[in-house]
Amino acid sequence: MPELPEVEIAARNLRRWLAGQKIVAARIPATRILRGAAAPALEKRLSGRKVTAVERRGKWLRLGVDRDWLYSHLGMTGKWVRRGRDEPAHRHERARLDVARASVRYLDPRLFGRLVLRARDEELADWRALGADPLVDGLDADALGATLKRTSRSIKEVLLDQTVIAGVGNIQATEALWRARLHPARRASSLSAAEVRRLVKGIERSIADTLADEEGPEITYVEEPGAPNPFRVYARAGEPCPRCGRRIERIVQAGRSTTLCPKCQPRAGRNARSRP
Ligand SMILES: [Zn+2]
Repeated sequence: MPELPEVEIAARNLRRWLAGQKIVAARIPATRILRGAAAPALEKRLSGRKVTAVERRGKWLRLGVDRDWLYSHLGMTGKWVRRGRDEPAHRHERARLDVARASVRYLDPRLFGRLVLRARDEELADWRALGADPLVDGLDADALGATLKRTSRSIKEVLLDQTVIAGVGNIQATEALWRARLHPARRASSLSAAEVRRLVKGIERSIADTLADEEGPEITYVEEPGAPNPFRVYARAGEPCPRCGRRIERIVQAGRSTTLCPKCQPRAGRNARSRP
């Protein structure tokens, strides 16, 4: 599933393919990704316009198209790819933006993605609600620590909250907690300042490593059949921990599965809890 690194790769590719180029034709059939917006009006508003910017925040992308923003969320299976102008439509093609020498297509088999057009001065509410983006804004350990002190949720749940940190999903949260040696069920408010700093570093390193592993013109998500797994512990239950060799376990929290190393990521024991 696309999270911050995969969406960042999409943004970099779209910038290379589209920035400064005129959209000579837009084709967007009516599907669920438009949430009822009129497809012909959308096509008309994009055709003949120049792409002036490509931005990303959390798991959202947006293309500046003259006085509008075209927002794109990849949902669970969405991806932007580049094709030749004369290549036929893919079975799961949901949008197509043609520029002079290429055709940029949005593919989304499961249709959980979104495509929304808004005037520049009417920023999308989902975009505005996003918390700190680890790449765009950077993460501040003191500010994050203060936020964690105010919640009764587990650290894993907080990491998935897009209004706290934008772009971290189940994969990056699992990887970051393993790197920080923190149990996902720990209460967020119980983390010490040193643990929050470790967590920030874990998030930053996990994102940087995923970007380095996956960057390229055409991405394959880890859930796709036959896809490689570039992650340390995500979807590796039963395999040895890359750090200590203990068998990786899987737990379920609020319906989401997390893998963890029981040795590297101990639950705080009685001793830890009785400390002031
Ligand atoms: Zn371990």
